[in-house]
Amino acid sequence: MTADDAAALDARDPLAPFAAEFHHPVDPAGRRTIYLCGHSLGLQPRAAAACIEQELAIWRDRAVLGHHDGPRAWMRYHERFASPLGELCGAMPTEVVAMNSLTVNLHLLLVSFFRPTPARNRILIEQPAFPSDRYAVVSQLAFHGLDASAHLVEVAPRPGEECLRTEDLLAAIERNRAHLALVLLPGVQYLTGQCLEVAPLAAAARAAGARIGLDLAHAIGNTPLRLHDWDVDFAVWCSYKYLNGGPGAIGGAFVHERHARRVDLPRFAGWWGHDPDTRFAMPADFTPIAGAEGWQLSNPPVLAAAPLLASLEILRRAGLARLREKSLALTGFLRRSLAQALPRDSLEILTPSEPAAHGCQLSLRLRADSRRVVERLTAAGVVADWREPDVLRLAPAPAYNSFSDVRRAVTALAAAVRS
Ligand SMILES: *Cc1c(COP(=O)(O)O)cnc(C)c1O
Repeated sequence: MTADDAAALDARDPLAPFAAEFHHPVDPAGRRTIYLCGHSLGLQPRAAAACIEQELAIWRDRAVLGHHDGPRAWMRYHERFASPLGELCGAMPTEVVAMNSLTVNLHLLLVSFFRPTPARNRILIEQPAFPSDRYAVVSQLAFHGLDASAHLVEVAPRPGEECLRTEDLLAAIERNRAHLALVLLPGVQYLTGQCLEVAPLAAAARAAGARIGLDLAHAIGNTPLRLHDWDVDFAVWCSYKYLNGGPGAIGGAFVHERHARRVDLPRFAGWWGHDPDTRFAMPADFTPIAGAEGWQLSNPPVLAAAPLLASLEILRRAGLARLREKSLALTGFLRRSLAQALPRDSLEILTPSEPAAHGCQLSLRLRADSRRVVERLTAAGVVADWREPDVLRLAPAPAYNSFSDVRRAVTALAAAVRS
């Protein structure tokens, strides 16, 4: 793949102009870097600062009146996310809510959806799960007096393989059929970039009498989601990866409509989950809002939410279908460029190649010391990331990366591997 090939693809890319709507980081010498780390922290939309400044101005000029004034009243701030998040999730606006952060939301929804009984008390997760997710489920088991060694079912790739097989997950659900309370899986696995086949897994979990939740940290804004139709019970995500909401941005959650009015589900309640019509009458008893909003605890962190509005607006204009189409073209180009530029035996691509089985990210295992390679890449102005034990993750994000970015990164990687 030559620079001309990449330039020709960029020239034909209808989303190319969107790159200019983001700040691209620079190296210490002030040169624009090639940023392939959107799976970790998405770039800052140029409009983000104005979104925050508007809220700062309202706080400065109106103070408490900002809660009630005008169409952007902070009182209803979280409601502005329902429609764009619903679209990203394949969900009804009432099934999603912007709130808290990922691990907090996971705990809140586990409180409602992990209800072990003497017979049904196991949680099934993937291995290796993201540490925070594993800490959350192990601590929830302990909270119910259950030990992970007996009650946590971990399904790993087969020996010698990198990715999970749907058939193995289905078999594990079947094997634990009588004891399974909850299946918790990623939409996209953080280490390998594998996109799981949620629909059959959700159907199997529900047929087994278990609940199913998803961690969408690496999936939202990346791969097509149909949470409502897949019939998953709940999902949680953070907004600082492919949603470009900024560090520590407000996270989100999905609760399926069939649970919207279930007052029998135990939950940890707070006033922001209470019916807004009577919230300020300060009643003693809690009446949850029907839908995902009923799981809110507190009034939303407006300054940690404002940049997300800027990003969601960009994603809306770019269009999810066009973003996905470009994403597949970028990873395809990345694969072909790697095959051409690097010796065949110098690397292994861990991410599955079928389009439905991956998103933006390709995970590589290099024969060379990948930590050193990442250091050389950084010196060459390419921002990639390295994960224990030996995985290099590259994620060209369709909202702001170009085919030329991919080509330059591969050229730098080839040089780093050779030196
Ligand atoms: C990024 C990520 C998290 C981060 O959790 P926070 O609570 O937002 O800090 C959790 N789980 C997975 C799978 C992730 O990829």
